[in-house]
Amino acid sequence: MISKVLVANRGEIAVRIIRACREMNIETVAIYSTADKDSLHVKLADEAVCIGKPLPRDSYLNIESIITAAVLTGADAIHPGFGFLSENAKFARICRECNIKFIGPTPEMIELMGDKARARQMMIEADVPVVPGSEGTIDTAQDARVLAKCIGYPVILKAVAGGGGRGMRIVWNESEIEMAFNTARNEALSAFGDGSMYLEKYIVEPRHIEFQILGDAYGNVVHLGERDCSLQRRHQKVIEEAPSPCISPALRKKMGEAAIRAAKAVKYENAGTIEFILDKDRNFFFIEMNTRIQVEHPVTEMITGIDLIREQIRIASGERLQFTNKDIQIKGHAIECRINAENPKLNFRPCAGKIVELHLPGGRGVRVDTAIYPGYSVPPTYDSMLAKIIAYGDTREEALSIMRRALAEAVIEGIDTNIDFQYDLIHTDAFNEGYFDTSFIEKNLDSIL
Ligand code: ADP
Repeated sequence: MISKVLVANRGEIAVRIIRACREMNIETVAIYSTADKDSLHVKLADEAVCIGKPLPRDSYLNIESIITAAVLTGADAIHPGFGFLSENAKFARICRECNIKFIGPTPEMIELMGDKARARQMMIEADVPVVPGSEGTIDTAQDARVLAKCIGYPVILKAVAGGGGRGMRIVWNESEIEMAFNTARNEALSAFGDGSMYLEKYIVEPRHIEFQILGDAYGNVVHLGERDCSLQRRHQKVIEEAPSPCISPALRKKMGEAAIRAAKAVKYENAGTIEFILDKDRNFFFIEMNTRIQVEHPVTEMITGIDLIREQIRIASGERLQFTNKDIQIKGHAIECRINAENPKLNFRPCAGKIVELHLPGGRGVRVDTAIYPGYSVPPTYDSMLAKIIAYGDTREEALSIMRRALAEAVIEGIDTNIDFQYDLIHTDAFNEGYFDTSFIEKNLDSIL
């Protein structure tokens, strides 16, 4: 069994992992940059090691410093959280070489799924539907033109190494394809150090539905139902909920089975997510697999009662899954709003600074995952997410009414936040009725603001 976990992350996810470890009687080591010396994860962990300067490459992405901190503190496992090194196969490999358990899948699985074109091929072989598109990568603008003509516009060009909603370009007609290909390739090269591209049919106004997967080292795989993450801005999720308000039990069963086939095809170990998009005719297509815990994991925890971080640690310790899909009961409905330090009225400009007044909502059906506290200074260097407010009720209507009052109660003063924006968003007719797609926020921005 793992006895000491180094948490290679910061912010709310570091706090979430430290809490799970404490409940399991596992010691914790926090790492932090000089910008994070007053952060909550540093205060909550049993030990803390400063690993460098504020810029991620000098601290949270610095593999050598992190491994050194683990060795010096005697940590026998590392939890990478999300972002930073969580999907870095090299990091997972070095952990393995240093005899430190990486709480996540093997480096080989991360590598395979991190190459989105190869992942597509694997899914085709596993009989999981993928969006019509290229077989492998496309090397020239001319190849992109020929393929796009064959598939039909619009198409989307995607970086093989892309992530976080970056490295994608929608192309509406042939006159744009050459320039789009060249710009997208250059952007991918500078953002990810890899200019390889692939192409897919662009599904207009889809829903984003993803399945949570858990797999152990013995080939057992379960899914924990879906999350609907269709409310997005610039391909980034804004609100997530589970179950999806738009899929039938029959479709859920079909998609869940496909998600399990996808995970089994790569002998997936630990927690992962199979992402699909759903078109207007309710056809679903695999878009990618994320080989880490996700921001939105709490909504799944609320409706299944399963602690996903605990399961990740158990699996990494070599334990077997203690349940099968038949044992997993989906109960109630959960909604998560991401609270960011940003100004929606100024094109969502991120904001740093001191929190002078803070009231976080609580009470029945409310869970808040955060690392902020009164007097905390939000550094300008990192992701703008401050907190996740999760509302849980027996039905979607109940979860929604709890979320409405939770957002109305929330006060964060001293910095800009999107609390009011989220409040307005959940009051739209579309959200109340459950009818929206990934383009909803962009199309209705003026009326929501
Ligand atoms: P990332 O790894 O950057 O998150 P994804 O492949 O998961 O990229 O896509 C992110 C979002 O982009 C999806 O949730 C969806 O909104 C949109 N998207 C991706 N592929 C397509 C597609 N073929 N058609 C329409 N929208 C897409």
